[in-house]
Amino acid sequence: MKPLAKCRDCGTLITKADLIKTWDCTPRAKAGEVKVFISLWKCPNCEKKFRTADRVWPKEKGKLQAIMDRLKK
Ligand SMILES: [Zn+2]
Repeated sequence: MKPLAKCRDCGTLITKADLIKTWDCTPRAKAGEVKVFISLWKCPNCEKKFRTADRVWPKEKGKLQAIMDRLKK
């Protein structure tokens, strides 16, 4: 997962301190194939919120198992 992002409105570089929350999401059509890691950011300059998504592939078995365990709880 990427710790950095860029504001879509003003282009300010977002640091990890501007991260509001993250969560995992599985696209229904690709269940069991693709996992997506979503990050919600708040720009420190214009204060707009936006999300970025990174794919988490099942080949990362350790990470996938951790995600599965978290989803069960
Ligand atoms: Zn901004």
